[in-house]
Amino acid sequence: MPLPLFIDGEFVQGGGERGAVVNPATQEVLTEVPYATTAEIDRAVASAKQAFEAWRQVPTPERARLMLEYQALLKRCQDDIARTLSQETGKTFADAKGDVWRGIEVVEHACNVASLTMGEMVENVARGIDTYSLVQPLGVCAGITPFNFPAMIPLWMFPLAIACGNAFVLKPSEQDPMTPNRLAELFLEAGAPPGILQVVHGGKEQVDALLKHRDIKAVSFVGSAPVAEHVYRVGAAHGKRVQAMAGAKNHMVVMPDADQGAVVDNLVAASCGAAGQRCMAISVAVFVGEAAAWLPAVRDAMAAVRPGAWDDEAAAYGPQISPQAKARVLEYIHKGCDEGATLMLDGSRCAVQGYPDGNWVGPTLFADVTPDMAIYKDEIFGPVLVTAAVETLQQAIALVNANPYGNGVSLFTSSGAAARQFQHEVDVGQVGINVPIPVPLPFFSFTGWKRSFLGDQHAYGKQAARFFTETKTVTARWFDDAATRPKADMTIRLR
Ligand code: NAD
Repeated sequence: MPLPLFIDGEFVQGGGERGAVVNPATQEVLTEVPYATTAEIDRAVASAKQAFEAWRQVPTPERARLMLEYQALLKRCQDDIARTLSQETGKTFADAKGDVWRGIEVVEHACNVASLTMGEMVENVARGIDTYSLVQPLGVCAGITPFNFPAMIPLWMFPLAIACGNAFVLKPSEQDPMTPNRLAELFLEAGAPPGILQVVHGGKEQVDALLKHRDIKAVSFVGSAPVAEHVYRVGAAHGKRVQAMAGAKNHMVVMPDADQGAVVDNLVAASCGAAGQRCMAISVAVFVGEAAAWLPAVRDAMAAVRPGAWDDEAAAYGPQISPQAKARVLEYIHKGCDEGATLMLDGSRCAVQGYPDGNWVGPTLFADVTPDMAIYKDEIFGPVLVTAAVETLQQAIALVNANPYGNGVSLFTSSGAAARQFQHEVDVGQVGINVPIPVPLPFFSFTGWKRSFLGDQHAYGKQAARFFTETKTVTARWFDDAATRPKADMTIRLR
């Protein structure tokens, strides 16, 4: 049975073309994903538009209560969602649970919608005149999400948008659409009124239809940098408010005074975890001065890391999402050798017993990498760590700042002064000090910079509440009337 679309509060079979959804460890076809037709997209947006009219009148605390119910239900179903998620992404079960959990945290934060959407007031801006602001929803918003976090990233978007009073159309990745459908099913079960969330599946054609749709007011996108640039350009040209979270090349700078054991452990986990398919993965290590001597220890620790299937509890990470994604990573490994980097650990011939058809890539380590090499410049999105050596912290900061991406960066050191200089001078939006993957919790926002983000307001937190709302400023004066005029006899008595 193909996966349904979710339109007007019902799961319906799509009438368009279909693609296979495949378990990346086995190539087993799990289901088929329907590519929504233009008519289906129009129907979803029209239904969302209608639902919005009623939903915007629902008091804010009632909207918050829906999120409370949803959060509790997601928690109860976390394992069940994670099982589906791990099969369609190949993530280990523990990693899949983490994907769901990070989404639940955002739903939790959406329960604070009242404080996130408070207006401001100044009394007496002139005699007898007050000015105050109202924070109002936009209408129908859309979300386009990548394959690598099929629970967390949809949950970055629709709960807060809907808590703010909007209706939402979600277009998840066509590579793992089962998890987002399950999230929609649970949202309905939590009590969401039909129509405020729609799920339409598909790829480029469906994205472009949403970007050009006249009834969509705002688009939140997460995906690779070239697609983010396309989405931002086309969405803006069609009058949408757009936020586009894009690709990354995250560095870890290692000072010689850092704790060597912590450096090695964190470097390995942050580069290989989730098969390197994280926008906050560490893909470049920059060793400062004598820290370069730790490279063999990093290689040995990476060599001990073993990928495996979603049902293998001992596996450190899973396969690449598709044979195409694997081929792309292998191409970069070959390119790195051709460019003259030193291949210290080669994961290109990785095999996993019992799973001969999985898209496996083993941990891969390059040394002597220079900024002109493609393996340094491009996001590889696999378990490939490239390393460079510099003499000073200042040189390391200059290297990071010259990189076009600015999603995340991390510094390992025992010097407070070095950490303070680093956090002040580095041109990257999310900084970890002795923390390898500094993803902020949802009361902050996900603040990537430079090529990693296009737009003004970032994902989740206060900034997303601003992204999904409009501010209206009211200046009001009330004239005296019978209710406020003093009674004549009372005036006499007071005198
Ligand atoms: P992708 O760009 O291929 O796809 C993202 C979405 O865009 C999907 O829904 C897909 O269907 C759609 N799409 C694909 N090609 C398109 C096109 N030509 N025109 C219009 N839409 C198109 O990304 P992916 O491979 O699914 O995800 C991995 C990427 O996402 C990586 O680059 C990663 O760094 C990035 N990412 C960024 C963040 C962040 O917050 N900055 C978070 C997670 C992932």
